[in-house]
Amino acid sequence: RSHAPYLQVNKLWKHYGNFAALKEVSLEIEEGEFVCFLGPSGCGKTTLLRAIAGLDPQSRGEIVQGGQTISRLPPEQRDFGIVFQSYALFPNLTVTQNIAYGLRSLKKSRQEVAQKVNELLETIGLPDMAHKYPAQLSGGQQQRIALARALATEPSLLLLDEPLSALDARVRLHLRQEIRSLQRKLGITTIMVTHDQDEALAMADRIVVMNHGIIEQVGTPEQVYRRPVNAFVANFVGTMNLLPVKAANQQQVRVQSRLINSRSYKSKQMDAAWLAFRPEVAEIKPVGLHLDGNRYEGFSGTVLHTEFMGNFLRIEVSLPEFQQSVQVDVSSQHTDLTLCAPGYQVCVSVPVDELQVFERY
Ligand code: ADP
Ligand code: MG
Repeated sequence: RSHAPYLQVNKLWKHYGNFAALKEVSLEIEEGEFVCFLGPSGCGKTTLLRAIAGLDPQSRGEIVQGGQTISRLPPEQRDFGIVFQSYALFPNLTVTQNIAYGLRSLKKSRQEVAQKVNELLETIGLPDMAHKYPAQLSGGQQQRIALARALATEPSLLLLDEPLSALDARVRLHLRQEIRSLQRKLGITTIMVTHDQDEALAMADRIVVMNHGIIEQVGTPEQVYRRPVNAFVANFVGTMNLLPVKAANQQQVRVQSRLINSRSYKSKQMDAAWLAFRPEVAEIKPVGLHLDGNRYEGFSGTVLHTEFMGNFLRIEVSLPEFQQSVQVDVSSQHTDLTLCAPGYQVCVSVPVDELQVFERY
């Protein structure tokens, strides 16, 4: 192989007693990539990040960074900077002293350290905060300082563990962009842990979707959103309507009297499946005869409620045949609103191309 990835995680296991927090996790990350570990609380995101840092070493497996096997090195011999969810700044040190902390061990001159700190304060947009203490700063400012501290030693890998989770919504959105543009400018390979799918979709070059100590899917935000490999990913990333159906054969499921093809479906046995579609691909139509062969229009039901979301309407329609409801998001400008009132009988129309099928366990 001519090209080696910057970071390789090979068959990593992590046990806490009998409990396996990571189960043979393998992963490759390219130089300069921004990768998000995404998954529900407790799925092993932090465990994987801390193993890469050496803060909490793996039980088995290997990690290679820049061509060197690092899995047995203590953290201080590894090349990374890290930011945690709680700002973890030293409360009794000033901003300057906090940022300079990692530089002391590098035996730099006072002048060099001062210059580096000033440069970082400029970079993170807080040039006037040098002599403040952490308690005098807002959460967003503290997290910027933590970022500067992590970058001070010029590591080639940046590890971020839910760095935005403790911040309020507006600051969080703002810092997303700042972190991403700083990362692009520096070209630093970055891994960010998050349980927030919007954050991962907005920021990542690639998303690693985790669940119960395994990786379910690795892909670009678009791949993970448009072509989830299973019902877990489909349901965790974005909203997905999942309707229980029967598999007819290896390639098709039976929905009412119609057979629906599925590219993604790879059932080993003919069994139960989920028929899936995103809220935004569906439309609401009056009940009646529809003859568009490119759409599936066999879902009929009753509008339960409609939420006005500004630029779109979120309509919940109960489908008696499936004994559950589906969500349909429609543009508020181009929809016949008289169709969407609670209690109305409607047809949920979905392009056949947008129907996906997943195995149901
Ligand atoms: P995440 O970051 O995805 O929320 P973690 O990686 O922190 O999840 O934890 C993964 C699993 O490992 C959880 O079930 C957690 O309870 C368990 N775990 C994490 N750290 C320890 C520990 N020090 N001792 C025992 N169990 C732990
Ligand atoms: Mg965590």
